[in-house]
Amino acid sequence: MTRPLLICDADEVLFAFMEAFEAFLNDNGLHFTWASFALLGNILETGSGRAVSQDEVSALLEAFFIGPAEHMRPVERAASTLQELSARCDIVILSNLPQSGAPLRRRLLERHGMAYPLHVNAGPKGKPARHLAATRQGPVFFIDDLAPHHRDVARHLPRAQRIQFIAHPRLSALAPKADCHLHARDWHQIGAFIGEALDNGGY
Ligand SMILES: [Mg+2]
Repeated sequence: MTRPLLICDADEVLFAFMEAFEAFLNDNGLHFTWASFALLGNILETGSGRAVSQDEVSALLEAFFIGPAEHMRPVERAASTLQELSARCDIVILSNLPQSGAPLRRRLLERHGMAYPLHVNAGPKGKPARHLAATRQGPVFFIDDLAPHHRDVARHLPRAQRIQFIAHPRLSALAPKADCHLHARDWHQIGAFIGEALDNGGY
């Protein structure tokens, strides 16, 4: 298969995760400190100031992804850019979330005009990305907010052109820069970068 492939993350790329997750924390007597780019250590009980544990962070994420995630706002121009790119590429969503959150995630993608195949993942993304691209000779693009996923994809699928994008400006300022081909400001820039790469490759 020579058709280009775009492997795209969802949280903080297609949906404004942090905005909705922070509101969910506040509704539950918790807050995010914005001291660093990590959930663990930065979610505190508002009364006591106690940092919640890894198990509690996992439970909060699980609770979020089966309910309040419904209210995540789609990122500006994500759906329209993907729709334009879908004329030239196959698109798959490779998203890390608990399996329990998959039905809601599918609904949300559909509701916002992004009903592309969804692969729910846990942990590093290099091997799943390599698997998705295994039967393809055409160009592969990978979009994610998290530097460790870029490192892992660089290792397991080195031919992928990797784009780091973090929709939330404050989170973006805190996040470690990934070693990648483009640090994108917005979906306009992502669309232009991929379009130009496809033009240059004759796709
Ligand atoms: Mg993400």
